[in-house]
Amino acid sequence: MTDPSTGRLRLAVPNKGRLVEPTLRLLHDAGLIFEEHERTLVSRVQNFDLDILFVRTNDVIEFVGDGVADLGITGIDLLSESGAELPQVRFLGYGRCRLAAAVPNDAPYRSVADLAGLRVATAHPQTARRFFASEGIQVDIIPISGAVEVAPRLGLAEAIVDLVSSGSTLVMNGLRQVGDVLASEAVMVANPTAERERSDDLAAIDTMISAVIAARSRKYLMMNAPASHLPELGALLPALESPTVIPLAHEGMIAIHSVVGADDVWGLLPRLKAAGASGILVLPIEKIVP
Ligand code: AMP
Repeated sequence: MTDPSTGRLRLAVPNKGRLVEPTLRLLHDAGLIFEEHERTLVSRVQNFDLDILFVRTNDVIEFVGDGVADLGITGIDLLSESGAELPQVRFLGYGRCRLAAAVPNDAPYRSVADLAGLRVATAHPQTARRFFASEGIQVDIIPISGAVEVAPRLGLAEAIVDLVSSGSTLVMNGLRQVGDVLASEAVMVANPTAERERSDDLAAIDTMISAVIAARSRKYLMMNAPASHLPELGALLPALESPTVIPLAHEGMIAIHSVVGADDVWGLLPRLKAAGASGILVLPIEKIVP
């Protein structure tokens, strides 16, 4: 719950592991000013009525569920494993990975259906159990807490369900993926009571964060061009609504400003040049509030 002595909101974030660095970057990029205090306990945000609680990644969900925190940042995989049905306020676009089912390279199994009757070792037993049940595949789930990828070599199981991002850990351990169990990324979750009773405060934080996330996937393009080329260039540049067109001092020339998908930039540049654009600038965007 909100700290009753101050009325400040509380956001629980991981204090160790992969989600720490991108989470802190997101909060700083959102404009929140706070010190990291070696990431222990509580940090007071100076320019917003918010305290940040640094807790173990696995504890974030419990803190939010119990109401010790109003909001929390965690992974979808952890949320799924906990079984907690917390409102998911926003997907954060980092910490992307997936829970995958894998087997040793030389095993005959090709799909998750082939795992019927086998032992599957995993640190995500609840999620794995739900997945195989929903697929109607009977397996023996062996819960283990770490080093899941060595379970087949140790003779503990014929298959595993483990977190994968690039897949290189699987390859290094002589394993091959046979199916996807769950796609995961970092997510901001809310305490249900806080979501109801402090919806304006939660919405203010969500706006700050979503503005950064929206900006990260886009670039601001500026270019000059002969005014007569506007139709071709305009067709290439949808922008948020429509591109900004500004006349230049040089008669017959215009500047065009537009917002485009960051992944589209490299494909667009040669087409813009071919359509008559010159002096093209590609700029980062700090925040987008639609
Ligand atoms: P950890 O660093 O082990 O504390 O992982 C914390 C969370 O980071 C996991 O629960 C996932 O949500 C996320 N994560 C993102 N990429 C990966 C990856 N390649 N392997 C494991 N976890 C990942």
